[in-house]
Amino acid sequence: MAVKFFMHYDGEKHPLGTLREGEIVESDEEGFKDWVENEKDLDTTPDFTDDDALVNTYYGPSIVAEYVELEEGEDEVKDLSKSAQVARRSMGRGDTTYEEINDVIKDAYDNTVWWAHDEDDPDLSKSPSMWSKDVPDEAKQWVEAALDSNAIHGDYKDLPWLAPLNIERIFRRRLRGDAGFRVEDVVDDLQDTFPHIDEQRALNIARTETGAVLDTARELAHEAETQEKQQEEGENYEPPLYNWVGPNDNSTTEICSEVGKITKERGGVTLEQLKSLLREHARDSPSGTPNRVDDWSPHYQCRRTYERVN
Ligand SMILES: [Zn+2]
Repeated sequence: MAVKFFMHYDGEKHPLGTLREGEIVESDEEGFKDWVENEKDLDTTPDFTDDDALVNTYYGPSIVAEYVELEEGEDEVKDLSKSAQVARRSMGRGDTTYEEINDVIKDAYDNTVWWAHDEDDPDLSKSPSMWSKDVPDEAKQWVEAALDSNAIHGDYKDLPWLAPLNIERIFRRRLRGDAGFRVEDVVDDLQDTFPHIDEQRALNIARTETGAVLDTARELAHEAETQEKQQEEGENYEPPLYNWVGPNDNSTTEICSEVGKITKERGGVTLEQLKSLLREHARDSPSGTPNRVDDWSPHYQCRRTYERVN
């Protein structure tokens, strides 16, 4: 038995995190740990190891605690293979191949993260739509699945700790249109939501989080494909290989150019190997963000991504 915390916010109920015997076993929201620590310091706060006391204390209107049963293994921070299975089940098996989905979502990346990346002051009104052609529903569903698996959890010191939740809502609302969103849309929404940030900052956040979501969407599709192919082909299955590619950016020389060089020399590496390489190099660099390598952001403002070689 465990206790899960939710926040009622703007008419919706958002999971914050889960405690078992006073320990955090799941964080749905960046900042949950800080919140728990702050709460524990207050005189009026109950014993956090006492589930009944938590449920009786946090019953609304904004924060609510509820009993939940944790399944075996559910206290792992992030298990994308599980998310991929769940997503694949809910969308059924479409006719679209993994290769098509990979290409279409990579196009969306080009249209958002890579659009005018080398310009200091790009004219945002010229930013293109994310989906450039008729995009299969399945590709859009993988992007939704990436949002469901918490691809957005950027920790920005100048934004409130609930910011990832706000950013996720912006993405979900903007993704409803057939053409997806434009970078300008997300920048506008970010500045409306956080009036103290300037356009450049909003653009950086928009690109970083868009990159995290689209890379995670492709990774989920890749996971589902791998699971299916491994069942069909067993040991004969050869996973796709990838290079780490993209423009030069702030920390390119330290992390991304090294990893890019290694992947190229080897003629591509598996997605798993790529993640290990990024994590290793992000750890070694002062500007690295190894805890965001799971979302393919080895450092802030990273504009690189993985590209299939076979
Ligand atoms: Zn980079």
